[in-house]
Amino acid sequence: MNTLFQTELHRHLDVSLRPSTLLELAQKKGIESSSTSLQSFLNKLLIRKPMRDLAEVLASFQICQKVLDRPEVLERVAREVCEDIYAEGTRRVELRYSPSFVNEFHPELSWKDILSAFESGIREASQKLPGFKAGLICIISRDYGPEGAEKTVDFFLENRTRFVGLDLAGNEQEFPGSLFRRAFQRAKKQGAKITIHAGESAGPDAIWYAIEELGAQRIGHGVSAVQDPQLLQTLRDRQICLEMCPTSNWLTQVVPSLEAHPLPQVLRAGIPVCINTDDPTLFATTLPSETRVCIEKMGLSSSEVTLTQAHAQAASFL
Ligand SMILES: [Zn+2]
Repeated sequence: MNTLFQTELHRHLDVSLRPSTLLELAQKKGIESSSTSLQSFLNKLLIRKPMRDLAEVLASFQICQKVLDRPEVLERVAREVCEDIYAEGTRRVELRYSPSFVNEFHPELSWKDILSAFESGIREASQKLPGFKAGLICIISRDYGPEGAEKTVDFFLENRTRFVGLDLAGNEQEFPGSLFRRAFQRAKKQGAKITIHAGESAGPDAIWYAIEELGAQRIGHGVSAVQDPQLLQTLRDRQICLEMCPTSNWLTQVVPSLEAHPLPQVLRAGIPVCINTDDPTLFATTLPSETRVCIEKMGLSSSEVTLTQAHAQAASFL
């Protein structure tokens, strides 16, 4: 086996803002005036216990969206995210973002400007961080429907060399994979590397659809795979990596407790699994803290942790 770099595959760039920066930007924009300290801001922002419904966390998501309003800000955020990831010990990271999510409140900010700004922040950080490498994944947001997906695929294909892969994220229940078949078939024909958020709030059928019809080479979350032995066998046979995000899954009530997370079971069944932070700004996750969760709450051994790292490296689109 090659030297192991600490690698992370599933981290949302637009929800990885450093909290102190988020507070500073929000105060400057006048959208956060009630917090008197970073701590009181964190108390409002962070999701620390399983949420009751999505509406509860919408405000936290929206504050990230609202501050990402200018190229200078996006560049700074991307640079800081890379610095923070490096400080965690990670050397290879795939950062994903949704163009339509980022410019939802800022239609004047073009998708091209967003991409260029994120790239230049990453480039700036990479020049200072020895051995560090980051790539961008373009997300199609389910919630903007098939039309939004076609537009995003057009943008992705126009900028093929600037992204390492394509993803689908958002509301799985209301916007199933079947709505996006055409968009992903187009991307797949052009040789795109594809990962799909599936089996997070939906059952194993959503994972089947992602691998059979949408061309997924990796699955984001894939928690419900454990319900289907035949699916587990297919994931193992085809070595399709599950990018699992334990704390995220607990806080969004995909699993009833961290102890009940299926990560160890799936890993021990021979399926490539890796550990990920998902949305660090809201969940206060880091790769080391998520790894600790897997050891302390799920009983992963240190050799199993090393195995998850090897899986992340082998499945990376970088
Ligand atoms: Zn995610």
